[in-house]
Amino acid sequence: MITEMQTTTKGQYLIDLEDKHGAHNYHPLPVVLERGEGVFVWDTDGKKYYDFLAAYSAVNQGHCHPKIINTLTEQASKLTLTSRAFYNNVLGEYEKFITEYFGYDKVLPMNTGAEGVETAIKLARKWGYEKKKVSENAAKIIVCEGNFHGRTISIISASTDPDSYGNFGPYTPGIVKIPYNNTSALAEALKDKNVVGFLVEPIQGEAGVNVPDEGYLKTCFEMCKAANVLFIADEVQTGIARTGKMLACDHENVRPDVLILGKALSGGVYPVSAVLADDEIMLCIKPGQHGSTYGGNPLGCKVAIAAMQVVKDEKLAENSQELGEILRTELRAIKSDLITLVRGKGLFNAIIIKEKNGKTAWDVCLKLAENGLLAKPTHGDIIRFAPPLVITKEQILDCARIIRETIENFK
Ligand code: PLP
Repeated sequence: MITEMQTTTKGQYLIDLEDKHGAHNYHPLPVVLERGEGVFVWDTDGKKYYDFLAAYSAVNQGHCHPKIINTLTEQASKLTLTSRAFYNNVLGEYEKFITEYFGYDKVLPMNTGAEGVETAIKLARKWGYEKKKVSENAAKIIVCEGNFHGRTISIISASTDPDSYGNFGPYTPGIVKIPYNNTSALAEALKDKNVVGFLVEPIQGEAGVNVPDEGYLKTCFEMCKAANVLFIADEVQTGIARTGKMLACDHENVRPDVLILGKALSGGVYPVSAVLADDEIMLCIKPGQHGSTYGGNPLGCKVAIAAMQVVKDEKLAENSQELGEILRTELRAIKSDLITLVRGKGLFNAIIIKEKNGKTAWDVCLKLAENGLLAKPTHGDIIRFAPPLVITKEQILDCARIIRETIENFK
């Protein structure tokens, strides 16, 4: 190992190690991080960067938030996992906390975002058969083109991205795909009496921070109500203060029938996801019909309570709202034909890059990294800007300067 490290830099050695021994299912930017604090991360050479991705909005509370880490270490030395074969002394406390926080009767705890989405789909189907009286195996879920809900077989069956679904068939039936931000298409799809749920991202994150028209969510919600169909919001990426409100649905005063949360629910410290719903829906699932060994474990529960307390105590939604406005104003003021569009809500933003001399958004991200800011392209020409929400006004202006100088000097 030492011999190999002497022939190459430490970072390159670690990149090669991943390349050799890990599956090639990601294409990371060539930086190797070893430390994080608040909005900053440091690489193995000690170079400091602003983190402008925040682990796809999992680190909204900032890296290694002391209150969350202290809670983690304290609980880790007491009790980590009991499984749900037994009660533990933390789960009930967490369930009370999180249901009161978001105003639902019940929570079903899981670990990853994809598991949360799977849970919501199962829940909607079960409700469909037992309450809506859809005939056996006929239930349908409506999804939107351009969605990203995770990577399991059922979820990629709902995807319209060939990278996500290609050569992974056969696919899960019972999924109807309609265009995003199109209420007429939803009206048409809702005519089918076998539809039990409409699964939607309030803003499509992976699609490149695709913000729908104002009023879209509210109209969709009302149409679902009229058709006796569950409105299921996937707020795994948009939720927890990212868009300037606690939930992106809050912008339109929509209370989803089924709410899916993940990522920042634990501040990037531990995988915790949740599905929230009222009794009428949630109690359709009975003992033995769904679960997860790690779901609701005391470590995850304590971490989530601490992480969600930080969001309120530090007014992260308000900060996201205020600094998001400032960031967009700064980005729109950049004089360059390289940027064709700036869009977003709160601190959930994206720019669209026009290819120049064969250089793409990837090359812009490499330059940004060189200049001390980490962001990642999505879909080739879009760069998402989603820093930890603990960022200050001074820092966001500094980041806007880095982006402006990088873009204006881009050759
Ligand atoms: N749903 C949305 C909207 C997401 O953005 C993601 C991940 O990016 C997921 C679900 C899946 O979450 P996970 O990667 O934790 O499975």
